Amino acid sequence: MQESGWEYAIVHPHDRAQVLAKRLGELVTNTVFHTMDITGPVVLISDLHLTAEDPSGLECFEAFTRHLHGVDQLYILGDLFEYWVGDDSAEALGLTGVCTALKRLHESGTPITLMTGNRDFLLGQDFCKSTGCHLLQEPAEEEISGHLILLQHGDKLCTDDINHQRHRAIVDQPSWRETFLNKSFSQRQSLAQAGRSQSEAGKRYKSADIMDVNHAAVENALLNSRCSLLIHGHTHRPGIHVITFENRTAWRIVLGDWTAGPSYVCVAPERLDLYFEGRCLSLSQSEEDHTLGVHHDA
Ligand code: MN
Repeated sequence: MQESGWEYAIVHPHDRAQVLAKRLGELVTNTVFHTMDITGPVVLISDLHLTAEDPSGLECFEAFTRHLHGVDQLYILGDLFEYWVGDDSAEALGLTGVCTALKRLHESGTPITLMTGNRDFLLGQDFCKSTGCHLLQEPAEEEISGHLILLQHGDKLCTDDINHQRHRAIVDQPSWRETFLNKSFSQRQSLAQAGRSQSEAGKRYKSADIMDVNHAAVENALLNSRCSLLIHGHTHRPGIHVITFENRTAWRIVLGDWTAGPSYVCVAPERLDLYFEGRCLSLSQSEEDHTLGVHHDA
């Protein structure tokens, strides 16, 4: 497995990114894009925060999945939904269209691997069975297009946010989940709504650094794995970061959220592209030597 020799290329402006940005603009005005082609054998997304309160987001996701027919695999790294209160509630939450889009993609021959996030941590086996998704526990080491990649939603790397970690530890307990899922739909929904407004209010008082990843947590995660590539979401700070520690070089690729349209990573054998906000950042493998370098690929 080739894990060294990555080159870091900031690709801006980028033809395909500009095409994508234009298509997204059209999508916002309800013109479904029809020529956007998503290439790359494996596609990863996260942090869509889909909810019936934002119909354009649902439409955007459904259009996106139609462009994925033919990719080798789709990974969803958490927070597909803004919130989730149990696998029996897709219809009540107005989210059956999302389920249908996933099912259609799965039936067209694209396997879908799903990791839950801190918003939709209650997604379970019933949801996966009905949509054809395979549920993946985090952190996971996956071989993707020939690269061994560490996958995580990302919130567990934000260890400076003590309150969030405390909350996560509680809701991760099987007994908490069982008690919650045994409540009626309307009870569960009002608890979820209360949790959402609490989290929004909390964010206003937290510094930006607290809500980003902790570098020691990232290094630990990589040290405990065999990977030199880490892909995660959650922070809504898309980018590609180089990390050097203990004579190792690793790369942290952060997916964006979908407030400005789709953000996704394409992983091919020879390159990795991150799309967000009409831009594209690429990691590519050097052909001649294995040193790292920056090159602009306009
Ligand atoms: Mn999240």
